[in-house]
Amino acid sequence: MFISVFDIFKIGIGPSSSHTMGPMVAAGRFLQELRDGGLAPARIAVSLHGSLAFTGKGHASDRAICLGLAGHDPATIDPDDVDAEMERLARDCTLEVDGIGPIAFDPANDLVFDYGPPLAGHANGMIFRALDANGKAIAEDTLYSVGGGFVVSAEELAAQDDLMTQTQEAGAPYPFGSAKEMLKMGADSGLAIADMKRANEAARAPQGIDFDLDAELDRIWDAMNACLQRGLAREGELPGGLKVKRRARQIHEKLLGEAGKNRPFQHTVMDWLGVYAMAVNEENAAGGTLVTAPTNGAAGVVPAVIRYYLDHCPDGCRAGIRTFLLVAAAIGGIIKANASISGAEVGCQGEVGSASAMAAAGLCAALGGSNEQVENAAEIALEHHLGMTCDPIGGLVQVPCIERNALGAVKAVTAASLALRGDGSHFVPLDSCIETMRQTGLDMTDKYKETSKGGLAVNVVEC
Ligand code: SF4
Repeated sequence: MFISVFDIFKIGIGPSSSHTMGPMVAAGRFLQELRDGGLAPARIAVSLHGSLAFTGKGHASDRAICLGLAGHDPATIDPDDVDAEMERLARDCTLEVDGIGPIAFDPANDLVFDYGPPLAGHANGMIFRALDANGKAIAEDTLYSVGGGFVVSAEELAAQDDLMTQTQEAGAPYPFGSAKEMLKMGADSGLAIADMKRANEAARAPQGIDFDLDAELDRIWDAMNACLQRGLAREGELPGGLKVKRRARQIHEKLLGEAGKNRPFQHTVMDWLGVYAMAVNEENAAGGTLVTAPTNGAAGVVPAVIRYYLDHCPDGCRAGIRTFLLVAAAIGGIIKANASISGAEVGCQGEVGSASAMAAAGLCAALGGSNEQVENAAEIALEHHLGMTCDPIGGLVQVPCIERNALGAVKAVTAASLALRGDGSHFVPLDSCIETMRQTGLDMTDKYKETSKGGLAVNVVEC
């Protein structure tokens, strides 16, 4: 599969791309398989396995499965409709499936969190079963949510080619599958990374329709920014029972009030970066609409750094944001293909670490950095997230996730700045850093991979 900028940046709802968007997409995919097979089951049953079982309640995976089976899509669902849909399903225990008709589904009994060993293919496994009136299975599918809202079958998981092959098959003119290949193709062609990515996107654009890449990139940024603005405007307690209060609005108002005055600290830019990131991640925690970047849990870093670029850097502009998104997606695709962007696979280094690397590269490119400086920026940001575990308290994407995005954004700007001060030559290649992340993730015990069985999740008493 060619990893497009629109695969890395997808509009959806919170709180998790792997645990909310992925399951919703998987449920829709199973319904389509039933339609394609001409099947009309009497009942549907679903089991969630591995990390999806252990942190699925906190990440609203059960709600996502229900909404997906009810025909909703992460990109189009209105978060304000969710509660009413869930109440209706709990009351009627019936799905009205387009093209099939009514199917019984009782969320309380037909959706099971299986706390046994994870499925063999991946930490985030789901088994969907279609049953006839006698309870006999007439169709079954095992699907995996592999991070960033991507969903694959066991066969697709096993058959995944390297990124270069996938990109070549998509007809892309610059099929780089690693940072080394990306730099070589840039040197040979004389093109910037954003230009190569742009050419690749154009080659795989839908044929026969009027596809405007810039307009689509603008739509992604507008959705990111709208989420950020909603996060700055809202206050109150986040759902889930931890009683975590939203802080972005209050901090933002303080920052606005300090404009032009003597400030109590000299760290104002970091405060702006932090408040932008927290605004997005508070919206994510509340189940709002946002854009994966590359995941929901890490969705605050890229928008925060883009707002920093737009509001705090001279010459920040729309054209620069498009460059930012294209380059960030190129880096995110390389990381996803060669390691992982999933906290359930490699810990938070794969989520906030990847987001920080993407943002660092995007900012460096938007500020005029060379291809070598861009690769350097991504490497610095990722290197200093290596080993970071995923240990969300209460299985909710709130603590440490919200503040972690703020810190990821600060590191991204620091990394871009350090890279721009150099000439692009550096000690650790980005590919080596990505491979280190992959190996570190393999060595990490499951306690630290989105199961909430270790780290902060067991050392902080919930009250
Ligand atoms: S700790 Fe990191 S990887 Fe884990 S849920 Fe939070 S943001 Fe995602």
